[in-house]
Amino acid sequence: MAEFSIIDQYFKRPSNVDVSLGIGDDSAIVTPPPAQQLVICTDTLVAGRHFPLNTSAHAIGWKSVAVNLSDLAAMGAKPHSILLALSLPTIDHEWLAEFSRGLFECCDQFGVSLIGGDTTQSTQLTMSVTALGWIEQGQAVTRAGAQVGDYICVSGQVGDAAFGLQHLGHPLQQRLDYPTPRCELGQQLKGLASSMIDVSDGLAQDLGHILKASNKGATLQLDQLPIDESLKSLETQKAWHYALAGGDDYELCFTISPQNYEKLLRQPLDVPLTIIGEITQQTGLLFEYMGETYPLHVHGYQHFA
Ligand code: ADP
Ligand code: MG
Repeated sequence: MAEFSIIDQYFKRPSNVDVSLGIGDDSAIVTPPPAQQLVICTDTLVAGRHFPLNTSAHAIGWKSVAVNLSDLAAMGAKPHSILLALSLPTIDHEWLAEFSRGLFECCDQFGVSLIGGDTTQSTQLTMSVTALGWIEQGQAVTRAGAQVGDYICVSGQVGDAAFGLQHLGHPLQQRLDYPTPRCELGQQLKGLASSMIDVSDGLAQDLGHILKASNKGATLQLDQLPIDESLKSLETQKAWHYALAGGDDYELCFTISPQNYEKLLRQPLDVPLTIIGEITQQTGLLFEYMGETYPLHVHGYQHFA
């Protein structure tokens, strides 16, 4: 079966957003809304490396979109569309049907259209998604900008996906397979958060990126980490490891002044937030437990380890 019939059968669908020219020509054409900046990112998922080999095609489709929408959310951008570069070892219709179903489910839930891509054969199953979004000129929330005295907050729960990976079949595997990009929250934080990142490689490491970019330090309260009941029943050190170094959470970690936090809470939010610490002048990441300094060494996910 030719590349073109795969595209027509599984990936060409009427657009659910404003696209000037979608799939079918040499490039797609999108007209930016006035006074908006284009926010753009790419993330690749490699079978066996970024998801277990037996992950369902539906989940892979969902996740390949979700991880990119999470990157847009972390800037405060409104997601618009995606491109998909797909490398397949074989043409497996059952797999393609389920993959595209999962991919479009995520697209539909967050109002995004697939506007183009590339389909090739390769020994390794790989999908690379590029996501496009919009933000008002100069409004993007970057990793730099955290101020001394800002709260450090995280959405939802951390450590679920890492726990799910170690306990396949447990209900938390759902959080590994179907991460929820915090698109609404990300946009609500524009103009309020001083810095933001999405947690993909572990909270401690990703917060470390904020601290480095902002040239600040932080104190984290270990007893405030929002973790699932399943993690609470573990040995504390183990639970903290999942929460701080697990990765694949796709929650938003952001810094915000106490005044702006009050403003944020006046709006309806679709995910719970937790204050887990505070930004400090002295660089480095310190931990406290029950009000006392607590020595803890955590490492996040290393892509080339
Ligand atoms: P070209 O050879 O000019 O690069 P292609 O034959 O690769 O064009 O693609 C034809 C059209 O199908 C293009 O609009 C491209 O963006 C789209 N396309 C190819 N693969 C995919 C895919 N996996 N998902 C979505 N669109 C795709
Ligand atoms: Mg091509």
